[in-house]
Amino acid sequence: MKTIVLASSNQGKLREFNQMLHDFDYEVVPQGQFKVSDVAETGLSFVENALIKARNAAEHTNLPAISDDSGIEIDALDGAPGIYSARFAGEKATDEQNNQLLLDKLKNVAESERTARYHCVIVYMRHAKDAMPIICYGTWEGRIIMEARGQNGFGYDPFFYVPTHHCTAAELTSEIKNELSHRGQALRILRKQLFN
Ligand code: IMP
Repeated sequence: MKTIVLASSNQGKLREFNQMLHDFDYEVVPQGQFKVSDVAETGLSFVENALIKARNAAEHTNLPAISDDSGIEIDALDGAPGIYSARFAGEKATDEQNNQLLLDKLKNVAESERTARYHCVIVYMRHAKDAMPIICYGTWEGRIIMEARGQNGFGYDPFFYVPTHHCTAAELTSEIKNELSHRGQALRILRKQLFN
């Protein structure tokens, strides 16, 4: 079985990757198991940051690497927090702190104006010098609500209302979230590119 290193230590992402890759013919091992530390995300786009993370993991392990860079874009905040979603409330911010800041910033914004979307870029790099990495995109439209609903998922999910399903992302089962989500979409594209 071929090993791929996953360039992430985000527990929520790791769980979703594992759920979506369980029938994959590869063993996907998080970079922490190879003692690879998180690299500074100095890019100005999801694509740049995903490339930086995958390259770092491939360089330190000599294995093919998959990375995910993702975040939420809120129209009323001119696209913030975007690529800064994980560090919206500060470098080591928790999900709770990020969500609280989001609610503070949206408190005077009408519900109809609270449109938002998750974005995800997944990169697959065969090796650290791969000049043709596979780059896959996914986007998931929703709206921010002001009271948390649901226990599943992670990050902004309890506040991300999914109009098509009349509930938040945190109220969806992991199977349904994976079917709909930005990450699920990008990952299905990757699977097609790798295996079809
Ligand atoms: P990254 O690890 O730099 O890509 O940051 C991703 C951040 O975006 C996470 O820490 C969350 O705050 C947010 N995010 C990305 N995907 C999701 C999701 O599926 N649900 C909730 N929050 C997400």
